[in-house]
Amino acid sequence: MIYEGVLSKMQTEFQDPIQYYLVLDQSFLHINQMLGKTLEFEHTGYQCLNCGKKKKIFRQGFCYDCFMGSPAAGDWIMRPELSTAHLDIEDRDLDYEKRVQLQPHIVYLALSSEVKVGVTRKTQVPTRWIDQGAVQALPIVEVPNRYLAGITEVALKNYFADKTNWQKMLKNEVAWVDLFQEREKIASVLPEEVRPYFHPEAQDLYELHYPVLNYPSKVTSLNLEKTKQYSGKLIGVKGQYLLFEDQTVFNVRTYEGYEVRITIA
Ligand SMILES: [Zn+2]
Repeated sequence: MIYEGVLSKMQTEFQDPIQYYLVLDQSFLHINQMLGKTLEFEHTGYQCLNCGKKKKIFRQGFCYDCFMGSPAAGDWIMRPELSTAHLDIEDRDLDYEKRVQLQPHIVYLALSSEVKVGVTRKTQVPTRWIDQGAVQALPIVEVPNRYLAGITEVALKNYFADKTNWQKMLKNEVAWVDLFQEREKIASVLPEEVRPYFHPEAQDLYELHYPVLNYPSKVTSLNLEKTKQYSGKLIGVKGQYLLFEDQTVFNVRTYEGYEVRITIA
């Protein structure tokens, strides 16, 4: 069977195990059902996820012009502490920024390899953690806007990593620690204006299980720019990565906006 379309990050459902869907032009692939099958990927072109033009992708599924101009790619996305909508100050489009920034945000600890700290909109729970391949996640504070979440994350970066080690995550090399205990250490280092939102007694630990037949012992990233065509037997999905039997891993998110043809043997 042949499927064609523009890659965007896989849709997920928080079940046990997590369910993954790759949405394409006329159809979608339920990836869990593809485990054990041979998938062939062929890179056939580009289509910007923002403007829809067939232009080369620069970053995050956007062409260069969209990445530089769209309010959905402002610096405050990757660095929440730069958010200014709560001050009525525009970055690229104040209406858009108010919509996205002035809503409940969660700062969390997650375990994907080591403990990391991160920020997400509350509506993205638990999607954000699934996308990172976390096996556990614990919310620390819920705050009313992105700025407060951002300054909390900055304060906690002194104590925790803020990036996922993706190789370890994919090999399932997890340094198991008790996230509740880690949270107890945090109270004294939270920014003053965030402390009213800290509820150290909350018990909402999330556990996430991924559909993986067996984990690779080493990993090599598939580069669709260099390798226009790849074929491999799918043995798992974790985060936004497809894992293949020959230790190749494919980060779907890296290739958002790429037109592909997928053939399933
Ligand atoms: Zn564009």
